[in-house]
Amino acid sequence: LENLKKADPEMAQVFAKELERQETRLDLIASENYASLAVMEAMGSILTNKYAEGYPGNRYYGGCDNMDLAENLAISRAKQLFGADHVNVQAHSGSGANMAVYFSVLKPGDTILSMNLSEGGHLSHGSPVSFSGQLYKIIPYGVDRETEMIDYDELEKLAKEHKPKMIVCGASAYSRIIDFKRFAEIAAGVDAYLLADIAHIAGLVVAGAHPSPIPHADFVTTTTHKTLRGPRGGMVMCKAEYAKAVDKSVFPGIQGGPLMNNIAAKAVAFKEALSDKFKKDQIQTVKNAKVVSDTLTEKGFRIVSGGTDNHLMLIDLTSYNITGKDAEAACAKSGIVLNMNTIPFDKQKAFIASGIRVGTPAATTRGMKEPEMKVVADVISRAVKNAGNDAELEKIRLDVKALCEKFPVYK
Ligand code: PLP
Repeated sequence: LENLKKADPEMAQVFAKELERQETRLDLIASENYASLAVMEAMGSILTNKYAEGYPGNRYYGGCDNMDLAENLAISRAKQLFGADHVNVQAHSGSGANMAVYFSVLKPGDTILSMNLSEGGHLSHGSPVSFSGQLYKIIPYGVDRETEMIDYDELEKLAKEHKPKMIVCGASAYSRIIDFKRFAEIAAGVDAYLLADIAHIAGLVVAGAHPSPIPHADFVTTTTHKTLRGPRGGMVMCKAEYAKAVDKSVFPGIQGGPLMNNIAAKAVAFKEALSDKFKKDQIQTVKNAKVVSDTLTEKGFRIVSGGTDNHLMLIDLTSYNITGKDAEAACAKSGIVLNMNTIPFDKQKAFIASGIRVGTPAATTRGMKEPEMKVVADVISRAVKNAGNDAELEKIRLDVKALCEKFPVYK
């Protein structure tokens, strides 16, 4: 950061503090990860200088030959990773990728059947505070009260009753396998499009640690920065027949010039994701989540739905008489970074919540395995049980720091 230090010491100081934070804190936020130095070099590169509206071979600006090479690499690698007919790598974000899909085949006022935010869905799947909830008629589905898993029979009933134009599956806080085949059958039964948003589980899908929606869904969206471990960004995949509509929807529909530096970084991340090492890490991510979930269960915590099949879990704190918000704060004092989260049928508002969400992608990228996951469960348990006891939280912080120092990220 030699140039930044000279040009803007104040900002360089912020970066130094953030590096220290990332190295010394235990990141358990299920949607976060550590991009490689190669990915970050691509992001912070000369490609940020270039306008390239349009698509490879068909741009609205001159001088795009190298941009075509970069974007084609990203597209071909993404196709190789996921086996999709068509890929658009220009979406700036996961929410933008979903918007592009909606705009490609829906009209304002159309009905979408999608998962409730409070039971695991994402804002962009139809929350009233999002464009999605404002433009479309949303019929929410959730999880079964007993099993806390998606009730496919109930979903089918809702689909038959409301005849949605699109069904959206995929979630931000759901710890179980999603049955994409069943979703597709239900969608086909009512002549609805199926969108699978795999933002959280994309890396798992690449590694075969979660079934792929590609054979079943009309559209598949993802972010590139979660389990996929790439730069911050989005991507749309679809069946060949929707290729033109999706591309038009991304540009010029909702975006202008693509972020070519980010697209290059996506290509670098996709190359990494094609490696055996990446696949091993994804499988380890799932194993690690199981160890955290089992160990917390042994310690008396209730895990929503009784466990996890993927990279995350929700911990119900109601019996500990502490809110998700206070548990998040106690963990933060101990150097554990995670987020409060509503649990299904939560009596608390989203900003207080009765649960916390714990994910293992970032810790796994650091190289942590089963033995460390037992320590992770232990420090979470101690922090939650000692919320309000600053002396104890400080002791936990030192244990967390010692663990993190054994697994450096970039240093
Ligand atoms: N879809 C799902 C399932 C997500 O969990 C997220 C982000 O957390 C998104 C979409 C949105 O991604 P972005 O923050 O890039 O808009």
